[in-house]
Amino acid sequence: MQAQARVVIIGGGIMGASLLYHLAQEGWTDILLIEKDELTSGSTWHAAGQCPNITGSFNLAKMHAYSNWLYPQLEGLTGQYVSWHKSGGIRLATNERELAWMKYIQGFSKVVGFNMELIDPAKIREINPFVTTDGVIAGAWTTDDGHADPSGICNALAIGARQMGAKIVRKNRVTAFTQLPSGDWDVETEQGTVRAGMVVNAAGCYARQVAQMAGIDIPVTNMEHHYLVTDPIPAFQERSEEMPVMRDSYMSGYMRQEQKSGLIGVYEDIGLAEAWAPRGGHPEWQSTSELFPDDLDRISKWLERAIERIPVFGEVGIRRVVNGAIPHTPDGGPLLGPATGLTNFWHCCGTSFGIAQGGGAGKYLAQWMVHGDSEINMVEFDPRRYGPYADEQYSRDKVFLDYRMTFTTRLPGEEEPDGRPQKVSPLYEKLKAKGAVYAETYGWERPKWFSLDGREEEGGYHRTNVVEVVAAECRAVADGVGVLDLSGFAKYEVTGPDAEAFLNRLCANRMPTKQGGIALVHILSSGGRIQGEMTVTRLADDHFYCLSAAAAEQRDWDWLVQHRLPGEQVALANVTMDRGVLVMNGPKSRDVLSAVTAADLSNAGFRWLSGQEIEIAGCPVRALRVSYAGELGWELHPLMADLEAVYDAIWAAGEAHGIVDYGLYAANAMRMEKGYKAWGSELTNELTMFEADMGRFINLKKEDFTGKQASLDAQERGLRIVYGEVDAANVDPRGTEPCLVGEACIGLVTSGGYGHRTGKSLFFACVPPEYAAPGSKFDIVLQGERRPATVLADPAYDPDNSRMKA
Ligand SMILES: Cc1cc2nc3c(=O)[nH]c(=O)nc-3n(C[C@H](O)[C@H](O)[C@H](O)COP(=O)(O)OP(=O)(O)OC[C@H]3O[C@@H](n4cnc5c(N)ncnc54)[C@H](O)[C@@H]3O)c2cc1C
Repeated sequence: MQAQARVVIIGGGIMGASLLYHLAQEGWTDILLIEKDELTSGSTWHAAGQCPNITGSFNLAKMHAYSNWLYPQLEGLTGQYVSWHKSGGIRLATNERELAWMKYIQGFSKVVGFNMELIDPAKIREINPFVTTDGVIAGAWTTDDGHADPSGICNALAIGARQMGAKIVRKNRVTAFTQLPSGDWDVETEQGTVRAGMVVNAAGCYARQVAQMAGIDIPVTNMEHHYLVTDPIPAFQERSEEMPVMRDSYMSGYMRQEQKSGLIGVYEDIGLAEAWAPRGGHPEWQSTSELFPDDLDRISKWLERAIERIPVFGEVGIRRVVNGAIPHTPDGGPLLGPATGLTNFWHCCGTSFGIAQGGGAGKYLAQWMVHGDSEINMVEFDPRRYGPYADEQYSRDKVFLDYRMTFTTRLPGEEEPDGRPQKVSPLYEKLKAKGAVYAETYGWERPKWFSLDGREEEGGYHRTNVVEVVAAECRAVADGVGVLDLSGFAKYEVTGPDAEAFLNRLCANRMPTKQGGIALVHILSSGGRIQGEMTVTRLADDHFYCLSAAAAEQRDWDWLVQHRLPGEQVALANVTMDRGVLVMNGPKSRDVLSAVTAADLSNAGFRWLSGQEIEIAGCPVRALRVSYAGELGWELHPLMADLEAVYDAIWAAGEAHGIVDYGLYAANAMRMEKGYKAWGSELTNELTMFEADMGRFINLKKEDFTGKQASLDAQERGLRIVYGEVDAANVDPRGTEPCLVGEACIGLVTSGGYGHRTGKSLFFACVPPEYAAPGSKFDIVLQGERRPATVLADPAYDPDNSRMKA
């Protein structure tokens, strides 16, 4: 085996092979894949091989679509047969919930570029004469997808990579890692040590063990999953056409033709599902091409339903049962990106639909590794979306949930209690008793809205029964004062003689120069694309307090730590758990706050966009005069231990002013009215600051900062984030809806919501520059309906910020 390589990939399943292929395509050919046994001997070989286009995630859909574009070509490119069957697929809707979900996906299918039609039961039966449609109200018919031989694809990718110069070593287990001061890794294997510039963990069901060898953990739990193949079915033998792959929540799985036999795969319910590992520990290293004993009792309920759905399946016997292991993550998405806390160590694992996703996962991860950014938004796949909270128990709880819900539609607003709560603020129980309904972000429980009359949220894409509650929360903030517990904000202290220079080098905007000054700053990649957004307060010459999104905590922390130069005198501290955050907004917030602090809160004493240390109820509080809601307001950052005392004092003083609690729904509605872009939606690795219409936050007079030249070079690129209003009926934009001009799809919504203070349905969208001018018009498709939209020049609410400056 060679002694060194630019990249060493561990694992020769579809994920490792696809990454190898795509890195080579990007021009990196000094790359080596190491497999402990034979290629595809993990989960890949026994997969059922389905490659659907339909998935609820827009960015995953891009991966699926790319795989479905690539796989049919692989035989021609490499000579390896992959058995691509373009059968298409039909997912059945048995209720309005499923149909609403399908309409949402059909919207973004236009942006991604795959074909999807919603068809009625008669059409379903016409396309697939074997299916019964009892209880079916519609079907989502995707014509560009199908199924293939997973081993064939994996081998084809390996052959293609080798043809470009990549190397593969089989029968060689990776046993340990050591990182050198240079940042390179020594990868120890059964056949010796290889020095790698970068290491990639593509070890499938072993990915957790491989991560642990490098001293970190990842939340991967491996689930057992069954499918069975029937004896040949006479009706299939008489027909030359192949039926589409059928997917159905009623039988919780998939059904298709396997040559002239039937194939049925089932995602059984909780209590019945089983994890391979960790159940009693890790998978054994010697396991290879392993199948588990089948347990048809576990899946019999759904098998019976499959036969109800496709009666010819019941006419023959069972030829073969496959029960194999699938790696899963808590949210069901793959782990693609840098490993937490490590440099030059990446993950390409954790996928439960690795055949469908493998092609795209390899392509977009290779782009990230080679160019510093992928062309698609990778935030939802970033392994650093999990922190230490995602321990083994959490992983199991969430993975069992994800497995059992594989074919269950989850509508916006719906969240299950499994694995919760992980991280709570000291106000959690108090606010819960007051009606707080929580949403989970990065393990934190954060109030979404307050149920004052005991109502429960009906999830949906339309305006639900919670809208009037959110409207009341917004009104109360606009007319009086409201508080929101946002203690999950990521918080860092950057101190030391070089703190300012360090932050100025990393961020596009200049750090505030005055003590107490606040600046909104952005972290860019060397390619000029947006990595992160922070609010920075200068507390002293050598002391900065930085805040970023809860979900970005690990990501931004790693960025800060890893970009410190040798010898730079900068100390970094992650103080997220040390301080709570109470957001206080509304015209009466000064009245309430001045009742609990002696600090001068006048405009002269506490100017807008500044921060001070004040005292509330005897507790020291870092107070920042900023507002995401567009009202007079402060963010209060007491020590976590003092949060409850500060909240109680504010509440007691606020009661005379009609103070209310409000939640994230109201916060989002008010953000939209102010036209504030959000990290992860508008501010993503897909865009530069100019494309995101954030050019004014770049300080081009600054000597240099990471991404400066690339930002300048990219000024004229072909995308723009615009802000606008749509004439919505009872469905508001939320993100990924297509923007149409005539029949052409010109862009997509990045986020949106209904503004209760303005009575406007508002959105951000990513469109070509010719649609960026105020007054530009296009349609937005909301639940299948085209609604006229107009680009606005200014925020819909208080465009000159007079309320915040009041
Ligand atoms: C029954 C069944 C049906 C399925 N059907 C579908 C389907 O229809 N469509 C779909 O998209 N997905 C399907 N899947 C899921 C799919 O199989 C997996 O998501 C996918 O194979 C994962 O690929 P991978 O490359 O991450 O893992 P693997 O294929 O397991 O590859 C990981 C490789 O790493 C190697 N390795 C591990 N540790 C080391 C080490 N220390 N040193 C060297 N090598 C190491 C292993 O030997 C293994 O070969 C199915 C799964 C099952 C069980």
